[in-house]
Amino acid sequence: MSAGWIAVAGLGPGDEALVTPEVTATLAEATDVVGYIPYVARITPRAGLSLHPSDNRVELDRAQFALDLAAQGRKVVIVSSGDPGVFAMASALFEALEARPSAHETDIRILPGITAMLAAAARAGAPLGHDFCAINLSDNLKPFAEVERRLRHAAQGGFAMAFYNPRSKSRPHQFARVLDILREECEPERLILFARAVSRPDEAIGCVPLAEAVPEMADMQTVVIVGNESTRRVGRWVYTPRSVAT
Ligand code: SAH
Repeated sequence: MSAGWIAVAGLGPGDEALVTPEVTATLAEATDVVGYIPYVARITPRAGLSLHPSDNRVELDRAQFALDLAAQGRKVVIVSSGDPGVFAMASALFEALEARPSAHETDIRILPGITAMLAAAARAGAPLGHDFCAINLSDNLKPFAEVERRLRHAAQGGFAMAFYNPRSKSRPHQFARVLDILREECEPERLILFARAVSRPDEAIGCVPLAEAVPEMADMQTVVIVGNESTRRVGRWVYTPRSVAT
């Protein structure tokens, strides 16, 4: 049995202070780091550490490569932004593992990180203080009709919502459709938060009533949080009460 291992690590939203000590300690032991180019760029090079940046949308190839390296006895960290289990590499690794029974005993650890919606919520106050859900608005891995269906049910269910991958250049019209569905399901005063580049130098956070929201307020560096019907402002903060008025 090789002494190789794989850790799938979340690097948090951007600020180094939001990387957990567990992730820092594991990176110090690694021989190889694999991941999407901008995430690998966050790792400080050092002797004995090979960096393997790869392009977006090759998650399965990357996971298979990590399994290959671990089988050769390498100590591999797969890096994700935020948390590796939230629309990121942890599931991709298990998909690759499922297809490779000979690798099922690989030493694998998933190291949690601070996901974008929690970093954004903390900046704004407590918009996710009651029941909420997270939806990936990208249709890379599911049909957009499914995005629409889940969004409508979440709104009807009274959940606050966090949207990841809200609006890319290749599908600019879809976020306009998301806002239309919200307008059908929610009142115009519903608060919606656009949190861009949270914890990075270019961080920008804005909160508007749904009636004033326009698609251009979101891009791929933005996480969008839609409050529930009780979400409100107090001073400069936005919060959702912990209870539902009966
Ligand atoms: N695993 C990551 C999410 C990857 S999907 C996590 O847990 O945060 C990529 C999406 O995450 C982006 O399109 C954006 O919606 C969101 N995101 C990641 N970092 C962010 C940040 N610093 N500020 C705002 N949104 C961010």
